[in-house]
Amino acid sequence: MTRTKPSVKLEAKSESKPLSAPQKALRKLGLDRDIDLALHLPLRYEDETRIVRLADTREGDMAQIEATVVSCDIAYKPRRQLLVVVDDGSDTCTLRFFSFYPSQQKALAVGNRLRLRGEVKGGFMGRTMMHPSFHMAGGELPNALTPVYPTSAGLPQVYLRKAVHSGLVHAARHGAFVETIPPEYMPRSAMSAGAKAWSLEQSLHFLHHPTPDVSLAQLEDRTHPAWQRLKAEELLAQQLSQLQSKRARDELRAPALVLKKGGLHEQLLGVLPFGLTAAQRRVGEEIAQDLMRQVPMHRLLQGDVGSGKTVVAALAAAVAMDGGWQCALMAPTEILAEQHFRKLIGWLEPLLSPLGKRVAWLTGSQKKKERTEMLGLIASGEAALVVGTHAVIQEQVQFKNLALAIIDEQHRFGVAQRLALREKMLTHDGMPEQEPHMLMMSATPIPRTLAMSYYADLDVSTLDELPPGRTPVVTKLVSESRRDELIERIRHQLDEGRQVYWVCPLIEESEALDLTNATETHALLTEALNPPGVKPVLVGLLHSRMPPAEKKAVMAQFESGAMGVLVSTTVIEVGVDVPNASLMVIEHAERFGLSQLHQLRGRVGRGAAASACVLMYATGESGRVSETARERLRAMVETSDGFEIARRDLEIRGPGEFLGARQSGAALLRFADLAEDGELLQWARELAPLMLDMYPELAERHVSRWLGGKSDFLKA
Ligand code: ADP
Ligand code: MG
Repeated sequence: MTRTKPSVKLEAKSESKPLSAPQKALRKLGLDRDIDLALHLPLRYEDETRIVRLADTREGDMAQIEATVVSCDIAYKPRRQLLVVVDDGSDTCTLRFFSFYPSQQKALAVGNRLRLRGEVKGGFMGRTMMHPSFHMAGGELPNALTPVYPTSAGLPQVYLRKAVHSGLVHAARHGAFVETIPPEYMPRSAMSAGAKAWSLEQSLHFLHHPTPDVSLAQLEDRTHPAWQRLKAEELLAQQLSQLQSKRARDELRAPALVLKKGGLHEQLLGVLPFGLTAAQRRVGEEIAQDLMRQVPMHRLLQGDVGSGKTVVAALAAAVAMDGGWQCALMAPTEILAEQHFRKLIGWLEPLLSPLGKRVAWLTGSQKKKERTEMLGLIASGEAALVVGTHAVIQEQVQFKNLALAIIDEQHRFGVAQRLALREKMLTHDGMPEQEPHMLMMSATPIPRTLAMSYYADLDVSTLDELPPGRTPVVTKLVSESRRDELIERIRHQLDEGRQVYWVCPLIEESEALDLTNATETHALLTEALNPPGVKPVLVGLLHSRMPPAEKKAVMAQFESGAMGVLVSTTVIEVGVDVPNASLMVIEHAERFGLSQLHQLRGRVGRGAAASACVLMYATGESGRVSETARERLRAMVETSDGFEIARRDLEIRGPGEFLGARQSGAALLRFADLAEDGELLQWARELAPLMLDMYPELAERHVSRWLGGKSDFLKA
């Protein structure tokens, strides 16, 4: 969370002479500034505060002893080793070194008195220690536990300890730890028994050098007030920064859009082949309220696959276009853009043409001529609706008056891309600087704690209801060895006039292999499903390397019902909408992520027919499916609730991976754990607005301590 400018100290050195290896390693770990070092907390601790008697040690103890060398010999059996016997007056112990330097051998000479630390092993021949650390006896014993830090090659603990300690001292000297939390708001868990608050500096000192009387359990489970203080700090910084960006956005201007009587919005409702669900109406209302304000909307619309987000988006687009404004719709890939928005366009285009308005497409694979034409339509404003992929945010694209940008599958867009979208749209012709409203859509619901922390700057609308008439999908786990039975089942579905998806896994880092695999499966299924004398079944193939036109053609055949089985790689992951498809087979399901599986499953069960999802797994060479893969598959069988799936996914993967591009590593929480620190998170959420209002300077200081220059990324 804290990587920003390197400290003056290191920077000065780097300019005058090249960095030493440990300095480079420090940099690599992101330990540039004093505060970074101060926040680099130990993995564990070693107790070097006591000397124990050998006679009191037990097998497996990490022990520190002081003893005199009584013999030191090189033995050659079973291999070359240095055998040293020491005696501390209570007992003896044999030290074994398989690698040793002459200088070490000298230090271990007979008669020398040493302070030794190592793991005690018992055994037939008496106590032994393998490769203990040692130095000459004497010298004061430390009065705090010795920290062991996470480190990397080329960065010895001893060096790191010194660096951390000096970082801590310097940071304190330069005022990095001044109190920013008003005492009356200090969280209770960060107070000691006497209701005295732990300061940040005190907490860090303690965590780096805890006194030996501390409860190790409290340190380990991070309930100690010092830990609580640190987590509180971090969560508060996150909340403050997001609230700041939200407030900054409230200062910006956006076109206020009004719902016109008899306008596009109403007309669209009139042509829809169904009525809206209560959830769609509620969410539509939330969005309409935002659009009416002069402040840019920044809303996330989340809803499980199939919950009907597209209609909601179309209604929002209608409101924007009604006022003569433009609306942009983006999806992460061409095929998704096509599938997600075709229906929407089908509804809107007929309503737009009487107004002399059109829909423009922008994709990467477009011919130059077509593209130029589209750019013209967009610049002139003739295109009221602009649909496409990343191509929509490219430099050459100039909108006349963009009022609303809708991003589907927002988590598949990187932070940088979303920032580009906002920046690109800052200016409009001749008007004061305005920003478009932004509606982001996601089929991966964000668990509550994540929404409260990482997405605190977003308004969230949730579609928590599926359109009526859906039948629940039955999910089954099937071993790969039962492929033949499965083919029988497919044939049965086809006989019933139903259609089937067969998804082949992505083979990590090898698109080519991926392809061979899908191609082979396609050939096998074609053969198996078309025995002589039976009505032929069309089996199609769809993969990411196909030219867009071919993909389109295949999809069209599947959608029309002419194609019975669609074999594909994960290109169909989201967005395909064929209500007649009733069976989804996912091959090597153990290789897929949980939310990916859930999304895939969402492709069936869209019509009235009973639908099933078959997760076929292979055990591989080990004969077993890995524990996490098993957890994923179990979750799929046990629930089809998108929120529950998301919650389990978070549990299995942790927030880092879950959040993907939104929060690159630097901005992730390092100390707080959302699963455990719900109370502190709530505390931070309540305190943040209060601090911005009543203690703006403290708030500012707090954010810059924790986020330095990184907070921009949180705003995307
Ligand atoms: P998603 O939220 O996954 O994007 P879609 O918008 O693609 O879901 O909607 C899934 C299907 O449900 C589409 O065929 C859509 O036309 C249909 N649909 C959406 N809303 C309703 C509704 N209120 N009643 C019936 N069908 C609906
Ligand atoms: Mg969708």
